[in-house]
Amino acid sequence: MNDSKAQEQFENTIARKWFERLRWEDGVSCPTCHNLHGIYARNCLEGYHRCQECNRDFTVRHHSVMRSSHVPYYKWVQAIEWIRDGGSMKSELAEKIGVTKTTASRLIKRIEDGKVSTDQNNAFFREAVRLINEGEGI
Ligand SMILES: [Zn+2]
Repeated sequence: MNDSKAQEQFENTIARKWFERLRWEDGVSCPTCHNLHGIYARNCLEGYHRCQECNRDFTVRHHSVMRSSHVPYYKWVQAIEWIRDGGSMKSELAEKIGVTKTTASRLIKRIEDGKVSTDQNNAFFREAVRLINEGEGI
């Protein structure tokens, strides 16, 4: 692994753990069955947890606006910062964080949706945006 790849992975782990602390401040709970016990980390898959109650794997993204996204966590943070700083053109965001314009467009839409979502699964995301907007992000 080269240095920049290792640096990216390092930043991504920090960002993932930050989102996890915001979502699961009282301990990891299953987003599907809400079980709080018998959850264990899948050591072979970074960021994955398994619920022994419903036998499902999940990450902090599950059931939130970040669901099914393959965009690294730190790029979500960068995109939120970019919107905070007045960014509006998807082509600029795409270039800044190294994603396609389509991905940038979807990220912007999901972040805007997440900011106003009343779904409890997005509460951590709203808090993340609030903290970043107040300069108290990662
Ligand atoms: Zn479960």
